Amino acid sequence: MITGNTQLLGVIGYPIQHSLSPVMHNAAIDSLGLDYTYVPFAVEPQCLEQAIAGLSALGVEGFNVTIPHKQAVMPLLSEISPIAQAIGAVNTVYRTAAGWGGTNTDVVGFLTPLRTHALQPGAIAVVLGNGGAARAVVAGCGELGYSQIAIVGRDRTKLEQFLCQGTFSKGVSIHLWSELVTLLPYAQLVVNTTPIGMHPQVDQSPLSQAELDRLPTHAVVYDLIYTPHPTLLLHQAMERGLEAIDGLEMLIHQGAAAWDYWLQRSAPIAVMRSALHDYLSASR
Ligand code: NAP
Repeated sequence: MITGNTQLLGVIGYPIQHSLSPVMHNAAIDSLGLDYTYVPFAVEPQCLEQAIAGLSALGVEGFNVTIPHKQAVMPLLSEISPIAQAIGAVNTVYRTAAGWGGTNTDVVGFLTPLRTHALQPGAIAVVLGNGGAARAVVAGCGELGYSQIAIVGRDRTKLEQFLCQGTFSKGVSIHLWSELVTLLPYAQLVVNTTPIGMHPQVDQSPLSQAELDRLPTHAVVYDLIYTPHPTLLLHQAMERGLEAIDGLEMLIHQGAAAWDYWLQRSAPIAVMRSALHDYLSASR
């Protein structure tokens, strides 16, 4: 029930209707009986500055930031964490004494499902795509200890810009898709950060069956996409006996990490996961 004491959390983006964050955060809030509610706010790019001031004036406790505001919000904040500065994007905003603070929980969201995996000596992480999410993935792979991270893209100029714009660890290299076949036999981790295979293009995959066959048997295939669930890429990887991780895990863990900033408590991860699974099954 919303009362006069209810505190506000939320997410800004444009469009925002597709966001699953309200589903998982409100389920988590309800399960703990907290007097909070999490609201999606559609903020057009030209209204961003006004919206940030408005969220402050309305007493909102904290909020997530999604496409297209992850970079644009940065100059509007009073402080930015080192990880968000290194990636060049903010996805979580919280209150500080000086105003809004911003950080990036996509990195921890990405790497949490991989924390228990032992790294093989000389293992390569192959990252497909060089957009916004790839920045968090490359930073996460560096934090996991990968000494070789190969970024695969379709435009050499964009790949070079990607390298120039981030503060990445040594051992990050850029490649065109034509070079992918030579990388796959050495890959311990392959991460799809492109939208290939996302609803409604559910019959597409960034890797052909022949490319999947080149992966070693201990390789982990991680797809950032969460609709469909699983993607064709993950379905084929599992058929081949490879470990598959879907984008819902990253979504859940980046959301859970935001609770440390907003509520100074752990999020009920199992509740969030179950709410998302139920919601996606019902909307199929
Ligand atoms: P983005 O900034 O638009 O980047 C997309 C990347 O994919 C670009 O490098 C783009 O290449 C490449 N790409 C697009 N279509 C391609 C194609 N047909 N062939 C080859 N490359 C292609 O998007 P983003 O924000 O990084 O998001 C990427 C994906 O990750 C989306 O599916 C998004 O839903 C998902 N995501 C999931 C989570 C999660 O929590 N699970 C979080 C963030 C993002 P060019 O640069 O050459 O255009």
